[in-house]
Amino acid sequence: KKVIFSGIQPTGIPHLGNYLGALQRWVQQQNEADEDTKLIYSLVDLHAITLWQNPAQLRQWRKESLAILLAIGLDPKRSTIFFQSHVPAHSELMWILSCTASVGYLSRMTQWKSKMSVEDNAKPFDTPLQLGLFSYPVLQAADILVHRATHVPVGEDQSQHLEFTRNCAATFNHNYGQVLVEPETVLSPAKRIMSLLEPQKKMSKSALNPKSRILIIDSSETIKKKVNAALTDSIDSITFDPDGRPGLANLLQILYHLENSSTGSVEDLASDMVDISKRALKERVAHAIEQHLLPIRERYQEVLVADGGQFLDDVAREGADKAGKSADATMTIVRDAVGL
Ligand code: ATP
Ligand code: MG
Repeated sequence: KKVIFSGIQPTGIPHLGNYLGALQRWVQQQNEADEDTKLIYSLVDLHAITLWQNPAQLRQWRKESLAILLAIGLDPKRSTIFFQSHVPAHSELMWILSCTASVGYLSRMTQWKSKMSVEDNAKPFDTPLQLGLFSYPVLQAADILVHRATHVPVGEDQSQHLEFTRNCAATFNHNYGQVLVEPETVLSPAKRIMSLLEPQKKMSKSALNPKSRILIIDSSETIKKKVNAALTDSIDSITFDPDGRPGLANLLQILYHLENSSTGSVEDLASDMVDISKRALKERVAHAIEQHLLPIRERYQEVLVADGGQFLDDVAREGADKAGKSADATMTIVRDAVGL
């Protein structure tokens, strides 16, 4: 049986990278799934607090993130949508996995190495290196394994964590018998959208400068401004060269994935535009983004206030209930296997 699971941190409105790399895929998977396929999507709020969050802000972001998932087209009747913190089995399985997870393996995670050095997170006090930031791939493994997911659609930056997840499952199964399922990583074609200002880095919710990313509910005007300010280079023609011209290549990638990417390649798209100005290219990119995101922005505003906010609460409660049942079924087997 196919079980699709994925998650997003409710640490702000998702950006174009989240959308093209993951969220758009979630909706596609939902719309293409047959009746037997289980679809489970989580707002991973326990992951969000691995970096300090203002509690009032987090509360607001959690609500907004749920509204976004509905606005992009996830249907709560078809997909289970829930907050991670509402289902304690995630944390319980994390502990059990922690007891066999390798510290050496965890310390090689590139995300740990990069977040260890974030200087840009506004903390209210000086903090030491936190255990949660280090061990959060184990929680991510638990998120996936507790639902016995077979397929996990994520951006490329999560590939390493997915490999670690498979390792956790294999180790558990080696110790306790064939209980957990090793999931497959599913990458979308737009697996890595880059920052508009530092195109060697991925577009990211936690990057300091908000102009480095386009939020999926940004206004037309904001989209135009951000695309216009995107870092390119001083070469005149348009070519697709991710190593030599990363900023331009990123804009071409975005355009390619938003326009009909089923015909031709991004190189073809670039060679069609070889003679146009960068200004004209940016206009076309901004236009494509606006066109694509407009319906999401409109639906978002509706969902946020539907039933005076009651609709979102209902979706969250029903999601937690369904996800809880799915996780508890696994935990019964896990506890038994371990001897608890
Ligand atoms: P943070 O920088 O705080 O980790 P984020 O932008 O990576 O935030 P997440 O909530 O961690 O957002 O990721 C949600 C999903 O979006 C994951 O599947 C992740 O792989 C994917 N994703 C994130 N950034 C990009 C990107 N630039 N391109 C493609 N996919 C991305
Ligand atoms: Mg991330």
